[in-house]
Amino acid sequence: MYPEDHFSRWRHGQGHWGDVAPEQWNDWLWQMRHRIVDGQGLEKLMQLTENERQGLMLADEKLAFSLTPHFFNLIDRGDPDCPIRKQVIPRAAEMVVNPEELEDPVGEEKTSPVPRLVHRYPDRVLLLATDRCASYCRYCTRSRLVSGSTGYAFATHFEPALQYIEAHNEVRDVLISGGDPLILSDDKIDHLLKRLRAIEHVEFIRIGTRAPVFMPQRVTDSLCAMLEKYAPIFISLHTNHPRECTQELKQACQKLIRAGCVLGNQSVLLKGVNDTAAIQRSLAHRLLQMGVRPYYLYQCDLITGSAHFRTNVQTGIEIIRELRGFTSGYAIPQYVIDAPGGGGKVPANPQYIQSIDNKTVRMLNWQGDSYEYPQPQ
Ligand SMILES: *Cc1c(COP(=O)(O)O)cnc(C)c1O
Repeated sequence: MYPEDHFSRWRHGQGHWGDVAPEQWNDWLWQMRHRIVDGQGLEKLMQLTENERQGLMLADEKLAFSLTPHFFNLIDRGDPDCPIRKQVIPRAAEMVVNPEELEDPVGEEKTSPVPRLVHRYPDRVLLLATDRCASYCRYCTRSRLVSGSTGYAFATHFEPALQYIEAHNEVRDVLISGGDPLILSDDKIDHLLKRLRAIEHVEFIRIGTRAPVFMPQRVTDSLCAMLEKYAPIFISLHTNHPRECTQELKQACQKLIRAGCVLGNQSVLLKGVNDTAAIQRSLAHRLLQMGVRPYYLYQCDLITGSAHFRTNVQTGIEIIRELRGFTSGYAIPQYVIDAPGGGGKVPANPQYIQSIDNKTVRMLNWQGDSYEYPQPQ
């Protein structure tokens, strides 16, 4: 059993910045302005390992380093293996590129009909609202274009993408991601949502964001009032570890829910961060308590310099097996592998069906016992 009690009290912003006035701490623009953006700044606040020092020296050529004060305070500074720390502080292994790794691991560029849009599936598109985030996840699947450190020419306007959606009436679902759409101003997001809601064939709008995790302060009353006009907006958060589920994030989720948002969560399976059933179960339970439904658990993409983050696929399948039956169905995300090169998301499940023919389905239950279901004759 994972020591869930360890997380039974929500962690508040503690540690550094204790002298900052609450009005400042609770202002997301203050959080943005006071981000830690280099190794020197970070070293002033915590003792780094040699491995991290090397990672920080080289990181900017690949994916910028940036860390909000809120998220920094979730790091256990005494623990070099802290799961929060590993997600955001570069390590030397990031610079080691293996032959199977790719700049564009899930082949988004080749299914991009216009800049800032990926149209891979028949009825839905991915719209890249920005190339920036509040902080950068070291395993970012879009590090080729995110953070401005690789020289990728990110298109400045999303008008061509909007016109494409307007012209393609098969598009009923728009996923707004990036970068992180919620680091844009309320006005910019308002403009985008207004345009999308005005398109008759767009039935379903969702936003993928980690901003509420990096700085729950982003979820202001004015943001919520704006989102409410377009309800229901589906929001996919990105949390990976139960320790990210703070009291502040819980309050932010409550506000979003009151504004008519429907909340889900996407996690990435990461070695040494969340690669056990106990941690995944604890995370799922925290999420449900915040009104967030676990949606996907991703196998880590083959992004360059990611070998130190990737588990084997059996690990993910075994985690799902250890959840199914043992906890609420609502707590179980769909484990998927985004097929390298652009095949899309492929579900990876434990094998419960032992045999199937026109007479009988033989199957294993969650306890490993065999059962039969007779087919209709
Ligand atoms: C993940 C993804 C979607 C959304 O897929 P769902 O399974 O509907 O959540 C859409 N487009 C692209 C390119 C994606 O990667």
